Amino acid sequence: MALAHGANSLFSGRVVALAGGVGGAKLAHGLAQLLPPEQLSIIVNTGDDFEHLGLLICPDVDTVLYNLAGVNHPQQGWGRADESFHVLDEARRLGHDAWFLLGDKDIALHLMRRQWLDAGLSLTEITSRLAQRLGVWHPVLPMSDEPVRTVIHTPAGDLPFQEYFVQQRCRPRMMGMTLRGLEKARPTPAVMSALQQADLIVLCPSNPYVSIGPILALPGVREAVAARPAVAVSPIIGGRALKGPAAKMMAEMEAEVSALGVARHYAGLVRGFVLDASDAPLADDIAGLEIIPLVTDTIMRDVRERRRLAAEILAFAQDQLLREVV
Ligand code: GDP
Ligand code: CA
Repeated sequence: MALAHGANSLFSGRVVALAGGVGGAKLAHGLAQLLPPEQLSIIVNTGDDFEHLGLLICPDVDTVLYNLAGVNHPQQGWGRADESFHVLDEARRLGHDAWFLLGDKDIALHLMRRQWLDAGLSLTEITSRLAQRLGVWHPVLPMSDEPVRTVIHTPAGDLPFQEYFVQQRCRPRMMGMTLRGLEKARPTPAVMSALQQADLIVLCPSNPYVSIGPILALPGVREAVAARPAVAVSPIIGGRALKGPAAKMMAEMEAEVSALGVARHYAGLVRGFVLDASDAPLADDIAGLEIIPLVTDTIMRDVRERRRLAAEILAFAQDQLLREVV
């Protein structure tokens, strides 16, 4: 990793990022440009996973893998660059209701995942194999090897996450959510050991409910995060989400739709909080939660901005968050 040179002056310890798809993958990629694989692991939400066409779809894990590999689609928040859709077109012709899009290269990855699952490998092992083949050297760790499935409660009934998100385009009002399978699920040993060895935990600007929420809900994870220096990055900027339903969900869950609302959500868990320069007036109230604010530009428009934000977060953590550790 040529870009990792000089990283040690920025941050000398081990960093663990908690991530969902879009916002999480961007910041994880920024961190991965600065820190070598021994210093950065990424724990990824699997609450969005589902079975489709006989395949196990792991949207957030794959978005993180594709971003770290630099093969992600540059605009849309999922899938690959230079993608074709021959398989799906043909499946449609044969009667498939293609409400969930999968490109040909993406399908190839899913066929390999299917084959390895059938051979008895865990999701962690499979993700590690896929990462190696894609040239991703940082550990990308699914939060659990057991299925956890986010279900959104709406006035129209309970909707599995992808039905809510893709089929219904997040239109139904969210009244609450359940993590199906949580009672039988455990964080993987790799996840727990990464958290316990972390000098810094970064909660990426991912959806607090459906991306970071499932990771924190696994037994022992919230406590492990709270025991280490942690910093969260707001996915809400100027009262809005850049993409996806985070702002709508916050409003429906009766939280204040702002970076302050996100900071309140993470109060007691994080020592630091990164908010956008356009939300600077909220910094004092965030400090009032006993959370140290960092105000900066948090919109990651390109690869350079991902790296710049990651570098600022590491410098902030080194200067202001780690010092207090006894
Ligand atoms: P999903 O799993 O694809 O929904 O992705 P995440 O939960 O990881 O990310 C969704 C969140 O990312 C949304 O709430 C966005 O506001 C946020 N987001 C996307 N791009 C950026 C960015 O460049 N900066 C910040 N601060 N947040 C972002
Ligand atoms: Ca997701």
